[in-house]
Amino acid sequence: MSQADIAALVDELRSRGVDVIRVSYPDLIGVDRGRDVLLEELESALGHGIAFCRAVYHTTPMGDVVPVAGGIEAGLPDIKAVPDLDTLTDLPWEPGALWCLADTQVAGDEAAGESPREVARRVSGKLGELGLRAVVGPELEFYLLEECEGSPGWKRYADAPGNVYVVGRKGDPRGILLTMLRHLRDASLHVTAANHEFCGGQFEINLDHSEMVDAADRAFRMKSAVQEIARYEGMLATFMAKPFNDEGGSGFHLHVSLVDEAGDNVFGDPAGKDGLSDTGRHAIAGVLAHAPALAAILNPTINSYKRFGPDTLAPWLIDWGLDNRSAMVRIPPERGPGSRMEVRLGDATANAHLAIAAVCAAAYLGVRDRLEPPAALEGYGYDPESAPMLPQSLPEALDALEADKEFGEVVGSYFVESFLTYKRNEVERFTRFVTDWEFREYAYHL
Ligand code: GLU
Ligand code: MG
Repeated sequence: MSQADIAALVDELRSRGVDVIRVSYPDLIGVDRGRDVLLEELESALGHGIAFCRAVYHTTPMGDVVPVAGGIEAGLPDIKAVPDLDTLTDLPWEPGALWCLADTQVAGDEAAGESPREVARRVSGKLGELGLRAVVGPELEFYLLEECEGSPGWKRYADAPGNVYVVGRKGDPRGILLTMLRHLRDASLHVTAANHEFCGGQFEINLDHSEMVDAADRAFRMKSAVQEIARYEGMLATFMAKPFNDEGGSGFHLHVSLVDEAGDNVFGDPAGKDGLSDTGRHAIAGVLAHAPALAAILNPTINSYKRFGPDTLAPWLIDWGLDNRSAMVRIPPERGPGSRMEVRLGDATANAHLAIAAVCAAAYLGVRDRLEPPAALEGYGYDPESAPMLPQSLPEALDALEADKEFGEVVGSYFVESFLTYKRNEVERFTRFVTDWEFREYAYHL
């Protein structure tokens, strides 16, 4: 963008009453980091970028820095975040401000290898080499919580049984879901619908499908926006995989299809078995073949593995089925331009860019290597004799990610190394931490 174009944009925005641009990007765990930049500083932000310490990418939810290569042991160097004005949207709940994403660069203006947006772009480029584009429609579930006395200080909002798909004030007495849906639409996130989910206080918002990097950008922003709008209401929106013992987890289902350079769906084929093309079958097989490595990215916390299990609507086994919700990969009944797979593996904690990149990388490998899926699951799944089991813990999934070198090459080896270091630090910290469960179980009789 030329200086004259930037000056014209700034004038136009000022005349619309805009005085701030919120610039944000996802860190390694999908938390939104960024700065609010005054409009008069936009030109300089576009020119020099906005400086951040690289270790922002490697910070735990508790605020500690994990020693990932290129971060703390390199002396905590800078990265710069360059606003991407193609992503500029309204910020309806913050009048006077607009919102855009940023790309991050290390010294020499090279893209930061652990940048989730960069990982997604890299995978999109790989698919491009095969003449393909991935189209992704994300669905995200989350709980709304209200502050309360006692530990942990938050309880489920409007907690009542059986409100699954119940609309209106019965399951949402304050009408917060509808407020969110409207705000997200006005922030141009292309949301399609919202509903009360299966469990008390649990909701879901669906996003329209689009090219994988754009879909990832919108899913990341949707999570950020939902959390922000909840805060305006004094509530906590959590995307944690399995926040409660007595209720189900929150999924991040991804509807994924492949289109050719002309934009035509190549996942389905009316003449193919089950109405699927060879490419579609290969893509499904890729997701199944690389599922153990995928789990590390789609189920990235210690808590994630408590969402899996029989009779949960979350997966447990590495399987696929035709319109079968008990399978890890469900093939919805639509064919023609709507032919696609629904990958039900991910939980809502997953970093949106990384999750989408990982699934598309596995689909890419399936197509590249012409993999064939095993027989589809029939009936209600969860029979451990019928299919291999998913990793049952984060350490197991991290080992699978490390071992899957082909997958690592597609998503980027620096990223995989950073992610493994970061997550193994999390496992190590948890292993040493005495939990409430241990005290309750052991302290009285033993
Ligand atoms: N909450 C379930 C999960 O964790 C999914 C429920 C549904 O089918 O939408 O994946
Ligand atoms: Mg759902």
